[in-house]
Amino acid sequence: MKQEITLKADSVFANTYQRLPLLIERGEGCTLWDSDKKAYTDFLAGIAVCNLGHAHPAVADAVYHQAGMLCHVSNLFYTLPQTELAAALVEKSFADRVFFCNSGAEANEAAIKLARKYFYDRGEKDRYTIVTMEKSFHGRTMGTLSATGQEKIRKGFAPLLPGFEMVPFNDPDALRKKISSSVCAVMVEPVQGEGGVCCPSAGYLAEVRKICDDVGALLIFDEVQTGMGRTGRLFAHEHFDVAPDIMTLAKALGNGLPIGAMLATERVASAFGPGSHATTFGGNPVVCAAALAVLETMQKDNILARCRETGAYFKKRLLELKSRHACVADVRGLGLLLGMELTMDGNGVVLAAMEKGFLINCVQERVLRFAPPLVIEKNEIDGLVSCLDNILGSLE
Ligand SMILES: *Cc1c(COP(=O)(O)O)cnc(C)c1O
Repeated sequence: MKQEITLKADSVFANTYQRLPLLIERGEGCTLWDSDKKAYTDFLAGIAVCNLGHAHPAVADAVYHQAGMLCHVSNLFYTLPQTELAAALVEKSFADRVFFCNSGAEANEAAIKLARKYFYDRGEKDRYTIVTMEKSFHGRTMGTLSATGQEKIRKGFAPLLPGFEMVPFNDPDALRKKISSSVCAVMVEPVQGEGGVCCPSAGYLAEVRKICDDVGALLIFDEVQTGMGRTGRLFAHEHFDVAPDIMTLAKALGNGLPIGAMLATERVASAFGPGSHATTFGGNPVVCAAALAVLETMQKDNILARCRETGAYFKKRLLELKSRHACVADVRGLGLLLGMELTMDGNGVVLAAMEKGFLINCVQERVLRFAPPLVIEKNEIDGLVSCLDNILGSLE
């Protein structure tokens, strides 16, 4: 049965994903079940998406009720869920205005367009360059691909969009050398996710803010992966006491429902007027109802404090593995976005863990990435750690 479906899938899907051989049927909390009814503890959460766990009843209820009342009307009209969600995000962030879309890439597209339009409106028509970071990831559309600092992702799609320059992450001197009055914005992930779970060094993001301010460039934080509590604060930049001019969100915003958002200050957002930018499904009432339920649940269940505590415990346990296994080169991350860098390819470990009922993944070939639902329990972490202990021991 399972093989029939995976073979069929492989014959009809565009061949863009390297899938694990699991047919997932159902989820609840931090557990997923496949078609053989085998249970897996999920340390990936759909790539940092299902932060409240799978099939969360508050989100399911919100979707059910909203879908039975109104699914879509377009942005030619006002709806209550979109209004309330925007107001909640404004209240909880540095931002004054929100543009809704359907994915992380689209949120970054909106940010790129807004930054360029801001300077165009001020008569600086040649000020369109955006500086991004090496090993960054901003999405797969032509614009966000051009912003992404990874050759393997850009390869084969030339010509890319002009006006993007890259500097190494965590290198303020390189940024200072690159920046000029022709740069409209610097775009950076506060913690690089796909790039290998790379944290900013002390003072780096504040330095980036200052370098932008010195030439009047805008600062864009791509919080598509780090936002919505993943790092133990609602937005990762809050750890570093630095506010951007523009921020993008997506992944965990709808706990699995497809929604993205671009948030900006009044000054910058005013560059968008009617007709400047649009998307049919953006801020659709169903996904906004889901996101409202997410925000409400995060508050009610004290998810941020829980994430900080569980994240610290998880990191401590991973550091124990590092002290026991020579093949662990580094443990890093913030909150429940953690990485363990190996001295070898990590994909064998991912498969071995899957056999034992734990779902993790590997980025940049050698970095195991852990991004479980924020409601993960310590005993589940203990289970994964002892599983990894065995796997790493058997590889040595
Ligand atoms: C996942 C991700 C994106 C792209 O989001 P999509 O919804 O896949 O388009 C952009 N930026 C970061 C930091 C991401 O992690």
